[in-house]
Amino acid sequence: MVASDMLQEPGPETGADVRARRCVTDMLEGNAVFKNINETLIAALATVQRPKFGTVGCADSRAPLEKVIGADVGESFTVRLSGNVLDASSIGTIEYGVGHLHIQMLVFFGHTGCGEVAAGQATLKKVVSGKIDESEIPERTALDRLVRRIYTNIKGNPKNIDSLDNAVMDNSKAEIAKLIKSSDIVGKALRDGKLTILLGMYDMRTGAVIDKGELGFVSARYKDKDGSVEFTGFAVS
Ligand SMILES: [Zn+2]
Repeated sequence: MVASDMLQEPGPETGADVRARRCVTDMLEGNAVFKNINETLIAALATVQRPKFGTVGCADSRAPLEKVIGADVGESFTVRLSGNVLDASSIGTIEYGVGHLHIQMLVFFGHTGCGEVAAGQATLKKVVSGKIDESEIPERTALDRLVRRIYTNIKGNPKNIDSLDNAVMDNSKAEIAKLIKSSDIVGKALRDGKLTILLGMYDMRTGAVIDKGELGFVSARYKDKDGSVEFTGFAVS
Protein backbone atom coordinates (compact mmCIF):
# COMPACT_ATOMS: atom_id res chain seq x y z
CA MET A 1 0.00 0.00 0.00
CA VAL A 2 1.38 3.39 -0.94
CA ALA A 3 1.10 6.31 1.46
CA SER A 4 -1.55 8.07 -0.61
CA ASP A 5 -3.88 5.05 -0.28
CA MET A 6 -3.94 5.60 3.44
CA LEU A 7 -5.11 9.21 3.22
CA GLN A 8 -8.55 9.66 4.70
CA GLU A 9 -11.36 11.51 2.99
CA PRO A 10 -11.32 15.17 3.98
CA GLY A 11 -13.63 15.88 6.90
CA PRO A 12 -16.03 18.82 7.09
CA GLU A 13 -14.25 22.07 6.30
CA THR A 14 -13.31 24.15 9.32
CA GLY A 15 -12.40 27.82 9.65
CA ALA A 16 -8.78 26.72 10.02
CA ASP A 17 -9.00 24.87 6.68
CA VAL A 18 -10.29 28.00 4.95
CA ARG A 19 -7.51 30.12 6.46
CA ALA A 20 -4.89 27.55 5.53
CA ARG A 21 -6.12 27.31 1.93
CA ARG A 22 -6.06 31.08 1.54
CA CYS A 23 -2.57 31.21 2.95
CA VAL A 24 -1.23 28.45 0.68
CA THR A 25 -2.92 30.06 -2.35
CA ASP A 26 -1.05 33.29 -1.56
CA MET A 27 2.18 31.32 -1.18
CA LEU A 28 1.71 29.64 -4.56
CA GLU A 29 1.06 32.98 -6.20
CA GLY A 30 4.23 34.35 -4.63
CA ASN A 31 6.11 31.28 -5.79
CA ALA A 32 4.92 31.73 -9.37
CA VAL A 33 6.40 35.25 -9.40
CA PHE A 34 9.63 34.00 -7.81
CA LYS A 35 10.03 31.20 -10.38
CA ASN A 36 9.43 33.61 -13.21
CA ILE A 37 11.96 36.18 -12.04
CA ASN A 38 14.69 33.67 -11.14
CA GLU A 39 14.23 31.07 -13.88
CA THR A 40 17.78 31.23 -15.24
CA LEU A 41 19.49 31.26 -11.86
CA ILE A 42 17.38 28.40 -10.57
CA ALA A 43 18.30 26.26 -13.58
CA ALA A 44 22.01 27.11 -13.29
CA LEU A 45 22.10 26.23 -9.60
CA ALA A 46 19.94 23.12 -9.70
CA THR A 47 22.77 20.72 -8.91
CA VAL A 48 25.43 22.78 -7.20
CA GLN A 49 25.63 25.71 -4.79
CA ARG A 50 28.52 28.09 -4.31
CA PRO A 51 27.26 30.74 -1.93
CA LYS A 52 29.32 33.93 -1.74
CA PHE A 53 28.81 34.29 2.00
CA GLY A 54 26.94 33.01 5.02
CA THR A 55 24.48 35.11 6.96
CA VAL A 56 22.95 34.67 10.39
CA GLY A 57 19.97 36.77 11.40
CA CYS A 58 16.85 36.86 13.53
CA ALA A 59 13.67 35.03 12.56
CA ASP A 60 11.75 38.32 12.89
CA SER A 61 9.42 38.65 9.89
CA ARG A 62 10.39 42.31 9.59
CA ALA A 63 14.04 41.45 9.05
CA PRO A 64 14.00 39.19 5.98
CA LEU A 65 17.74 38.91 5.68
CA GLU A 66 18.16 37.92 2.04
CA LYS A 67 15.77 40.62 0.89
CA VAL A 68 17.41 43.19 3.17
CA ILE A 69 20.82 42.69 1.55
CA GLY A 70 19.53 42.01 -1.95
CA ALA A 71 20.94 38.48 -2.06
CA ASP A 72 20.13 36.48 -5.17
CA VAL A 73 19.28 32.79 -5.29
CA GLY A 74 22.47 30.90 -4.43
CA GLU A 75 24.31 33.88 -2.92
CA SER A 76 23.65 33.57 0.80
CA PHE A 77 23.89 30.47 2.95
CA THR A 78 21.41 31.66 5.55
CA VAL A 79 20.58 30.76 9.12
CA ARG A 80 17.74 32.56 10.87
CA LEU A 81 17.04 32.11 14.55
CA SER A 82 15.11 34.10 17.07
CA GLY A 83 17.55 36.53 18.70
CA ASN A 84 20.48 34.94 16.80
CA VAL A 85 20.77 32.40 19.62
CA LEU A 86 22.62 29.39 18.23
CA ASP A 87 21.92 25.76 19.08
CA ALA A 88 23.71 22.55 18.07
CA SER A 89 21.92 22.26 14.73
CA SER A 90 22.54 25.86 13.72
CA ILE A 91 26.22 25.50 14.60
CA GLY A 92 26.23 22.33 12.49
CA THR A 93 24.65 24.30 9.65
CA ILE A 94 27.35 26.96 9.88
CA GLU A 95 30.03 24.24 9.97
CA TYR A 96 28.58 22.85 6.75
CA GLY A 97 28.77 26.30 5.18
CA VAL A 98 32.35 26.90 6.28
CA GLY A 99 33.74 23.36 6.03
CA HIS A 100 32.01 22.07 2.90
CA LEU A 101 30.81 25.09 0.98
CA HIS A 102 34.00 27.02 1.81
CA ILE A 103 32.27 30.22 2.80
CA GLN A 104 34.89 32.86 3.52
CA MET A 105 32.55 35.44 5.01
CA LEU A 106 30.02 34.92 7.74
CA VAL A 107 27.95 37.98 8.61
CA PHE A 108 25.67 38.12 11.63
CA PHE A 109 22.94 40.74 11.63
CA GLY A 110 21.22 41.96 14.76
CA HIS A 111 18.24 44.25 14.32
CA THR A 112 16.67 47.18 16.09
CA GLY A 113 13.63 46.44 18.24
CA CYS A 114 14.44 42.72 18.57
CA GLY A 115 11.61 41.27 20.67
CA GLU A 116 13.65 38.31 21.84
CA VAL A 117 16.51 40.47 23.08
CA ALA A 118 13.96 42.85 24.62
CA ALA A 119 12.63 39.90 26.64
CA GLY A 120 16.19 39.16 27.83
CA GLN A 121 16.58 42.84 28.67
CA ALA A 122 13.29 42.81 30.63
CA THR A 123 14.64 39.88 32.64
CA LEU A 124 17.86 41.81 33.27
CA LYS A 125 15.85 44.80 34.54
CA LYS A 126 13.88 42.57 36.92
CA VAL A 127 17.06 41.05 38.34
CA VAL A 128 18.90 44.38 38.64
CA SER A 129 15.92 46.02 40.37
CA GLY A 130 15.65 43.11 42.81
CA LYS A 131 12.16 42.09 41.63
CA ILE A 132 13.41 38.58 41.06
CA ASP A 133 16.49 36.64 41.96
CA GLU A 134 18.58 35.11 39.20
CA SER A 135 17.51 31.65 40.40
CA GLU A 136 13.88 32.60 39.76
CA ILE A 137 14.30 33.25 36.02
CA PRO A 138 11.91 30.80 34.32
CA GLU A 139 13.42 27.81 32.53
CA ARG A 140 10.37 25.64 31.90
CA THR A 141 9.87 26.06 28.15
CA ALA A 142 12.43 26.21 25.35
CA LEU A 143 11.44 29.85 24.90
CA ASP A 144 12.12 30.52 28.60
CA ARG A 145 15.59 29.05 28.18
CA LEU A 146 16.21 31.10 25.06
CA VAL A 147 15.35 34.32 26.93
CA ARG A 148 17.50 33.25 29.85
CA ARG A 149 20.42 32.70 27.51
CA ILE A 150 20.03 36.21 26.13
CA TYR A 151 19.90 37.53 29.70
CA THR A 152 23.19 35.72 30.40
CA ASN A 153 24.69 37.12 27.18
CA ILE A 154 23.89 40.73 28.04
CA LYS A 155 23.99 40.94 31.84
CA GLY A 156 27.69 41.83 32.07
CA ASN A 157 27.27 45.29 30.57
CA PRO A 158 25.25 47.89 32.56
CA LYS A 159 24.60 49.77 29.30
CA ASN A 160 22.29 46.93 28.27
CA ILE A 161 19.75 47.81 30.97
CA ASP A 162 18.66 50.88 29.02
CA SER A 163 19.97 50.43 25.48
CA LEU A 164 18.22 47.72 23.49
CA ASP A 165 20.49 48.38 20.50
CA ASN A 166 23.55 47.78 22.64
CA ALA A 167 21.98 44.65 24.12
CA VAL A 168 21.30 43.36 20.59
CA MET A 169 24.98 43.84 19.66
CA ASP A 170 26.29 42.31 22.91
CA ASN A 171 23.94 39.35 22.58
CA SER A 172 25.20 38.53 19.09
CA LYS A 173 28.83 39.10 20.11
CA ALA A 174 28.38 36.51 22.87
CA GLU A 175 26.83 34.05 20.42
CA ILE A 176 29.66 34.58 17.93
CA ALA A 177 32.25 34.04 20.67
CA LYS A 178 30.51 30.80 21.69
CA LEU A 179 30.39 29.67 18.06
CA ILE A 180 34.11 30.25 17.62
CA LYS A 181 34.94 28.46 20.86
CA SER A 182 32.59 25.51 20.37
CA SER A 183 33.29 24.78 16.70
CA ASP A 184 36.73 23.53 15.69
CA ILE A 185 35.83 24.03 12.03
CA VAL A 186 34.85 27.68 12.47
CA GLY A 187 37.64 28.37 14.97
CA LYS A 188 40.32 26.93 12.70
CA ALA A 189 39.04 28.76 9.63
CA LEU A 190 39.12 32.04 11.57
CA ARG A 191 42.58 31.35 12.99
CA ASP A 192 43.94 30.40 9.55
CA GLY A 193 42.61 33.59 7.99
CA LYS A 194 40.21 31.65 5.78
CA LEU A 195 37.08 33.07 7.37
CA THR A 196 35.97 36.58 8.31
CA ILE A 197 33.16 36.89 10.85
CA LEU A 198 31.36 40.22 11.00
CA LEU A 199 28.46 41.52 13.04
CA GLY A 200 26.22 44.22 11.60
CA MET A 201 22.95 45.85 12.54
CA TYR A 202 19.76 46.20 10.56
CA ASP A 203 17.55 49.16 11.36
CA MET A 204 14.06 47.91 10.72
CA ARG A 205 12.63 51.40 11.21
CA THR A 206 14.38 52.63 8.06
CA GLY A 207 15.32 49.45 6.18
CA ALA A 208 19.01 50.38 6.34
CA VAL A 209 21.95 48.23 7.34
CA ILE A 210 23.90 50.55 9.63
CA ASP A 211 27.43 50.93 8.26
CA LYS A 212 29.03 53.42 10.63
CA GLY A 213 29.07 54.67 14.21
CA GLU A 214 28.46 52.69 17.39
CA LEU A 215 26.21 50.21 15.63
CA GLY A 216 28.44 49.84 12.57
CA PHE A 217 30.09 46.56 11.60
CA VAL A 218 32.50 44.84 13.97
CA SER A 219 34.85 41.99 13.16
CA ALA A 220 35.56 38.98 15.40
CA ARG A 221 39.11 37.79 15.93
CA TYR A 222 41.20 35.85 18.36
CA LYS A 223 42.55 38.07 21.09
CA ASP A 224 45.24 35.73 22.37
CA LYS A 225 46.45 32.17 22.31
CA ASP A 226 44.03 31.00 25.01
CA GLY A 227 41.26 31.42 22.47
CA SER A 228 39.37 34.43 23.81
CA VAL A 229 37.59 36.45 21.16
CA GLU A 230 37.50 40.20 20.69
CA PHE A 231 35.64 42.52 18.36
CA THR A 232 37.16 45.41 16.50
CA GLY A 233 35.52 48.04 14.33
CA PHE A 234 35.25 47.13 10.67
CA ALA A 235 35.35 50.10 8.34
CA VAL A 236 33.33 49.50 5.20
CA SER A 237 34.93 52.34 3.29
ZN1 LIG B 1 14.79 39.70 16.57
